[in-house]
Amino acid sequence: MKLIDSFGRQINYLRLSVTDRCNLRCFYCMPESGVGACSHDDILSYEKLHLIAEAAVGLGIEKIRITGGEPLVREGIVPFLARLSGIPGLNHLAISTNGLLLPKMARDLYFSGVQRLNISLDSLQDDRFATITRGGKLKMVLEGLDAAEKAGFPAPKINIVAMRGINDDEIFDFVELTRQRGNSIRFIEYMPTLKQPGWQRQWISGQEILDRISTRYPLEEADKGAYAGPSKDFRIPGAKGTIGIITAVSGHFCAQCNRIRITSTGKAKGCLFSDQEIDLNPWLERGDRAMISHLLEESVLKKPKQHGMSLEGYEHHNFAMSQIGG
Ligand code: SAM
Ligand code: SF4
Repeated sequence: MKLIDSFGRQINYLRLSVTDRCNLRCFYCMPESGVGACSHDDILSYEKLHLIAEAAVGLGIEKIRITGGEPLVREGIVPFLARLSGIPGLNHLAISTNGLLLPKMARDLYFSGVQRLNISLDSLQDDRFATITRGGKLKMVLEGLDAAEKAGFPAPKINIVAMRGINDDEIFDFVELTRQRGNSIRFIEYMPTLKQPGWQRQWISGQEILDRISTRYPLEEADKGAYAGPSKDFRIPGAKGTIGIITAVSGHFCAQCNRIRITSTGKAKGCLFSDQEIDLNPWLERGDRAMISHLLEESVLKKPKQHGMSLEGYEHHNFAMSQIGG
């Protein structure tokens, strides 16, 4: 079965947020204060998350990415993942994590059936990493990267939010990881989710990043993974890892969108930057799988053609990305 939206896009990828809590507080993702974590009662139980996942896979979703907040801080995540990975028809189960807890958890995650890890890492410099994350320890993430590979995972993909004047002088340090460690890396355009004043000054386009890399290395187009969606991927000839850009703000993005999202409080969202959401809670409460399937389909059909965000402005209300899951 295929899930096709009103603009002919196949939707095969679900981002499922399991918590809004996090053990970091990256400045571009969460305000320093003022965003209280949702109460435990509002966060979907594992039972409800599983019901959504089953319904989604029944409709044609083939890949699920578990996100948050930081998914690894939620108690009981490993048994939940093990159950999720057993859903027939789910071809790919992945997690986005900040990596801090991987030294403790990588092995269990590997045996739970998770296939891939994406790690968010915006600086390879201790002080800077601590500043961006408001207190994080880079060493723990680097240990997490090693632990993931030791546990059996393929080299994790590294997501970098590229920001002018903040970490853009490290572009080549990240590029080296594709050659030396074999990690694939992906530069994400900084999105003004919190409508941070002056964000445009820090914003860099994916194209500028590629142009800068091209001054030093030739880049060849690389095959995208089966469910990669809107990223554009390249490779330095001979490098094991790829270099991707996600041009979330500058465009060339929505036409390839293949995803829907579920927030940790049970709202289905067809588009990250649309305020339109469908509340699944009344039917989750009753365990009504048919109705959940119907509402997920509705969310796909209501998916807008493109988001209304650009350097000039935006239509969405501001939100902490941790509440939706990126
Ligand atoms: N805690 C996990 C992590 O950091 O990977 C998962 C959740 S996090 C919200 C998912 C992704 O959203 C991360 O790669 C993060 O860098 C990205 N993100 C958060 N806020 C962003 C923003 N304003 N612009 C671009 N990417 C953002
Ligand atoms: Fe936490 Fe991930 Fe947001 Fe950073 S990007 S604050 S690690 S949820």
